[in-house]
Amino acid sequence: MPTKSTLARFRRRVVTWFRRHGRDLPWRATRDPYHVLVSEFMLQQTQVARVEGFYRRFLDHYPTIQHLAGAEALRVREAWEGLGYYRRAANLHRLAREVVERHEGTIPTEVERLRALPGVGRYTAGAVAAFAFEAAEPAVDTNVGRVIRRAFHPRTGRDAKGEHRIWATARALHGRRGPSAWALNQGLMELGALVCTAREARCDRCPVTAMCATGRRRATA
Ligand code: SF4
Repeated sequence: MPTKSTLARFRRRVVTWFRRHGRDLPWRATRDPYHVLVSEFMLQQTQVARVEGFYRRFLDHYPTIQHLAGAEALRVREAWEGLGYYRRAANLHRLAREVVERHEGTIPTEVERLRALPGVGRYTAGAVAAFAFEAAEPAVDTNVGRVIRRAFHPRTGRDAKGEHRIWATARALHGRRGPSAWALNQGLMELGALVCTAREARCDRCPVTAMCATGRRRATA
């Protein structure tokens, strides 16, 4: 595990970089947990550029969780038309009904309770806690996992033990809840999407090169 001061510097750099360079995406302008959930379900299998239009259209049809819960399954599927992986729409619809029936229409704030909802796994629960409630919770998707692996655990295996390590470091990176926790998670995702991509690690334009094992190795090679 990296030292606390390394983690704190890394966190500050990611947050500062994100505030300057993060893309202006519609789901980044909201803290509405239902809207965040819709975006996260859509982003599970689909790229950002495609999701943008569908996200707006779906929320035009179903602006609140109550609207979605009261809809017919066929209509929900139609509103999802074109995005594919319709199981996501079915799960989102079930989730809406469950929240309305069992939680009085209020989406839970805690990760464990979020995970009990249909279609919500570890990542999505962390993402909703972080992006809707600004909780200091890790949300490790493919992009975030890649950044943390390259930065702190370049030799860690891709087995369950390795995953556990990545999540533990993602958790340790967090400070307090609040806007910085939100920006850290968004920033890690953005770094993985724009700078530290699967195809190429652009270490020369990365804000965390000085704290990154892979970036430092490349700089001295
Ligand atoms: S320094 Fe390079 S390897 Fe490290 S996070 Fe940045 S782009 Fe990725």
